[in-house]
Amino acid sequence: MSLRTSAAVAVCKASHSIMKLLGRNGRSLPGMIALKLDSQLVEKLSRGHHTIVTTGTNGKTTTTHIVQQAIINAFGGAAYDPTSTNLEQGIATTLCLDSTLAGKRTNDWAVIECDEGASKTILPAMKPQVLIVTNLYRDQVDRYSSWTSARDYIIEAAKASPDTLLVLDADCQVTSSIADAVDNKLVWFGVECPVYDEGIADYDASVACIDCGAELEFSHRTFAHLGTWRCPKCGRSHHDVDIACTKIENPTDKSCTLSLRINGTEHVVDANVRAGYDVYNAVAAVAGLLASGISQTDVFEALAHFTHAAHRFEIFNLDSTEARLLLMKNTAGCNQLINMIQSEDELPQKLVCLLGAEIMDGLSTEWIQDVRWEQICSPTTQVIVGGPKYQDMQQRLSQAGIMPENMKIQTNYASLVEDIAALKEPVTVIANCSTIEALRVELVKKYQPVDYWAEHDHRK
Ligand SMILES: [Zn+2]
Repeated sequence: MSLRTSAAVAVCKASHSIMKLLGRNGRSLPGMIALKLDSQLVEKLSRGHHTIVTTGTNGKTTTTHIVQQAIINAFGGAAYDPTSTNLEQGIATTLCLDSTLAGKRTNDWAVIECDEGASKTILPAMKPQVLIVTNLYRDQVDRYSSWTSARDYIIEAAKASPDTLLVLDADCQVTSSIADAVDNKLVWFGVECPVYDEGIADYDASVACIDCGAELEFSHRTFAHLGTWRCPKCGRSHHDVDIACTKIENPTDKSCTLSLRINGTEHVVDANVRAGYDVYNAVAAVAGLLASGISQTDVFEALAHFTHAAHRFEIFNLDSTEARLLLMKNTAGCNQLINMIQSEDELPQKLVCLLGAEIMDGLSTEWIQDVRWEQICSPTTQVIVGGPKYQDMQQRLSQAGIMPENMKIQTNYASLVEDIAALKEPVTVIANCSTIEALRVELVKKYQPVDYWAEHDHRK
């Protein structure tokens, strides 16, 4: 290991420790500095190790968490990022934290969540055994010029890592089309049953074929543009799947039972996910893990007991107020949060909606226009809006029916924590990456000084 690499690892570890003391996530900056010292760091720290990478528009985080739990069950540990940063600098930090100062990795396996755009640097560097591609949505217009731009990055990535086995969502026509352009080995997954209770699934009214523009026909739909599709004009169609979810039973707020058909054999397994979009993530993780050679026992055990990402459902107790923090990333993901909130017994009466437009958020806020805020807003809902782009949020929520007298603006995070505590009722906070982190820093200062960013001990 070169002196350059050792220095990069040391600086990364030290700056990560300092940032954590300050209540920060500390996953991006330390890796960024380390990559400046050694631009080959990710490749060097991955060489000779096993890696599973997950990418796609939605579902990366949950899929990654199931995968990491199974790897920990099977091998006792893995390099992973509990905070789900998914750009090259965050991945560099994950690998440095798993390494000694001499650059020797502690764990044989790394479980990595990777942004679609970052895949073209990460795959050639890490050469993973398996790449799971969840789905590719067309609403990433703030980041990509067309529906297939993110796919093209993944194709470029897969071509640069030809021994990587690709695990593809057959229900997404865009993810499927990766197969047409690469020679990598493939495993297919899909969902063959309804995933939501009646009435809350959101289908795209019409879905145009990405090749010829004709309207796709579906023999089965789950939500958004996903389902068993076929193009009547050019003949492209849904690929047969190796691993499918065929039935969802016993749904509760937190879990359900899945019937999985794995290479022709049926298995009924408990899953620590709600019925809904997370079912795709469960199936994706199972497919990726089995493709990596992990035993069914370890995989099913992980599916039943894995720990969800920290701040997806993070809850803070502020004196007599309970605040739950929900992370929104894009239109599709946020509509899924709205579905989840809508499926609860009562709509939240107190909302906090924070909007920023940092690089990690995507620089445009256009995407909030198509989120169906109307479904969780009533004339009596009280909302606090904040974040640098609060005006966009305020304007959209007014449109959704929030009365001006029920909307408060608070752009100072410390004061926002006081405002939330003063509500003395359960509060639902919906915020994007930069704003949720800024709020979290203030919350940690005052309440529950537990460091949720710290690695939870998943070992049993
Ligand atoms: Zn077509």
